Amino acid sequence: MMQCFEWYLPENGLHWKQLASQAASLKAAGVNMVWLPPAYKGAAGAASVGYDVYDLYDLGEFDQKGTIATKYGTREDYLQAVSALQHEGIEVICDIVLNQRMGADETEEVMAEEELKTNRDQDISGPQKIRAWTRFDFPGRAGKYSDFKWNAAHFSGTDWDDAAKRGGIFRFDGKHWNRETDTENGNYDYLMGVDLDTDHPEVIRETHAWGKWYLDTVHMDGFRLDAVKHIGFDFYREWISDMRAYAQEKSGKELFIVGEYWANDIGKLLHYLDVTANSLCLFDVPLHFKFLQAATSDGRFDMRTLYDDTLTGKDPAHAVTFVDNHDTQPGQALYSFIPAWFKPLAYALILLRAVGVPCVFYGDYYGIPHDGIAPVDCLPKLLKIRECYAYGEEHLYFDDASIVGFTREGDDEHADSGIAVLLTDSVGGRKRMYVGTRLAGVQMVDAMGKCMEHVLIGADGWGEFSVDGGSVSVWVIEKADLRKA
Ligand code: CA
Repeated sequence: MMQCFEWYLPENGLHWKQLASQAASLKAAGVNMVWLPPAYKGAAGAASVGYDVYDLYDLGEFDQKGTIATKYGTREDYLQAVSALQHEGIEVICDIVLNQRMGADETEEVMAEEELKTNRDQDISGPQKIRAWTRFDFPGRAGKYSDFKWNAAHFSGTDWDDAAKRGGIFRFDGKHWNRETDTENGNYDYLMGVDLDTDHPEVIRETHAWGKWYLDTVHMDGFRLDAVKHIGFDFYREWISDMRAYAQEKSGKELFIVGEYWANDIGKLLHYLDVTANSLCLFDVPLHFKFLQAATSDGRFDMRTLYDDTLTGKDPAHAVTFVDNHDTQPGQALYSFIPAWFKPLAYALILLRAVGVPCVFYGDYYGIPHDGIAPVDCLPKLLKIRECYAYGEEHLYFDDASIVGFTREGDDEHADSGIAVLLTDSVGGRKRMYVGTRLAGVQMVDAMGKCMEHVLIGADGWGEFSVDGGSVSVWVIEKADLRKA
């Protein structure tokens, strides 16, 4: 999978058109699934990345927030990009942002209690009158697709009192934070904007109706669910089950669904999978932080522990592995960008292992011009190796504090398949690994071009591989056609 955007894409309304024209080359590069950014009109109009949701029905069609097109283009461009990608055999995953709304059309007077920012279960005021941005009438859309209008009754809180021009965490009187959310800050139901009350029957009805409209309009292959830790866990359990049944009935599609639960805490991820009946995958956030730790420990990270307490280690069938994303890149909310020297190691780990659904970040593949960040230049090669040679049974060698690796035996369906991967956060060295007797007598070479020797696989299926300091070597059989890589 590729995450097909980064935060600082140019605000030129051309992204959908560009993706449509890139569809064939993405497919040729080995991409079989893409995650597209939120496609609906945000409060920041043509500058919105998409997470400041204003109108879920405006996919770049109505003159709202000062623009018809979104940052990425018009509704027509969007639908054309989706069909161009699907035409190439690439599945399209759409970003769903339901937790919060921004850019309301009008304010309303609401009674609210103010909460302590660091413990939202603690009131620091009694009920007081505030003025909140809660009325969404969508005059620019004038009822097309849906005549649903939002008001204060549909939200549980906000962070701005427009009467006093004052920030704070305000819980609307008579509302309660959903108990089944993340426990950070006491209760992390509230994130930003005005927070949807996902227990309100009209909110449930409307979000389900919109999901079906979106499926019928875009015919996507799955969803990436934003901010799931800030939404009552029961909400998505029901929503997912409804959308899966609907897609199945309408098109026979089995939706691919991945949730963003941003927590470096395997217990929280496993709990979420449990309460949502394993009906989705989650991003392996703990693995991202392992990469960061390994990359910033001056060669002293214990590489044996790389998969400890990660989703890939504990529940690989539900893991979407990634190195970085639009939130972790420099300048963004969850900044934790993996240093350049470690990116090839991290990408070899997510792309070549047998487990997890890997997600390549657009900003790594194409670079981030905004910050002068170059593309990870070995990424096209690693994607090719994944597509052509990374098959067959896997053997793990996470048995040394510095030098670790794994092998794939290859299989008969894929010509010249079978690989051996060796990496280190410290000084270089060697390791004997088993690649299987299928490759007995074969010579292997390092496709990364770091180690120049040939490794002969013995009759017993073992070989002794080497790796340079602070790098990764990816051994493929000598006659594997590296022109493809
Ligand atoms: Ca919430």
